[in-house]
Amino acid sequence: MSRGNLIIVSGPSGAGKSALVAGVLGTLAHIRFSVSYTTRAPRGTERDGIEYFFVDRDAFQSLIQEDALLEWAEVHDNYYGTSRKFVDDLLVQGEDVILDIDVQGAETIRRKRPDTVSVFVLPPSYDVLRERLERRSLDEGLVIRQRLKRACSEIRRYHEYDYLIVNRDLGDSIRELEAVISGNRCRRESRMESAKSVLATFGGTDAENP
Ligand code: 5GP
Repeated sequence: MSRGNLIIVSGPSGAGKSALVAGVLGTLAHIRFSVSYTTRAPRGTERDGIEYFFVDRDAFQSLIQEDALLEWAEVHDNYYGTSRKFVDDLLVQGEDVILDIDVQGAETIRRKRPDTVSVFVLPPSYDVLRERLERRSLDEGLVIRQRLKRACSEIRRYHEYDYLIVNRDLGDSIRELEAVISGNRCRRESRMESAKSVLATFGGTDAENP
């Protein structure tokens, strides 16, 4: 079985990443969400082990010391990190794994796993982003202002990513992300195991040196 692929999705809070990722998880098979650790408190209906593993700062420090995190970063005064075991267990089962992580985490993963595909999600404009954050109203005014400020610096790094989705219409954006993931699965490098077994039926031709 071929190993799954890592797909990073980044973009400012309010760009619509969560809805986009949820959409793709609902339509494509063999794709799973990487549940990160975070020290921030659960919001709204969030449940431990589904959106995040919610831990305190001491527990997070222990994870860093045990080298249990593939990457970690401080975002909005909280720590967030990707579980190495969670991700690798899924990849060896042949599942694609989608990571919703910030620009710092994306930089680390790209360095450690250069075959990762990365997608940046932009809101249609600053005003739309502000409206979305205000409408979501899960956060207080000060938090919204901090998130908008951070968005301004984050979006400047969109050019570090392989793909760009401008999230004007959620349905269209979901289809675009599906296309990126499907296209990546069709890459020759991702299909070597299948190619070898097909070529074997042609008399055992060496797939790498036909
Ligand atoms: P939120 O608190 O809105 O769920 O997430 C805040 C930011 O943290 C988002 O930009 C999200 O992509 C990022 N984030 C979530 N999990 C991780 C993680 O494991 N690592 C890193 N580096 N960023 C994360």
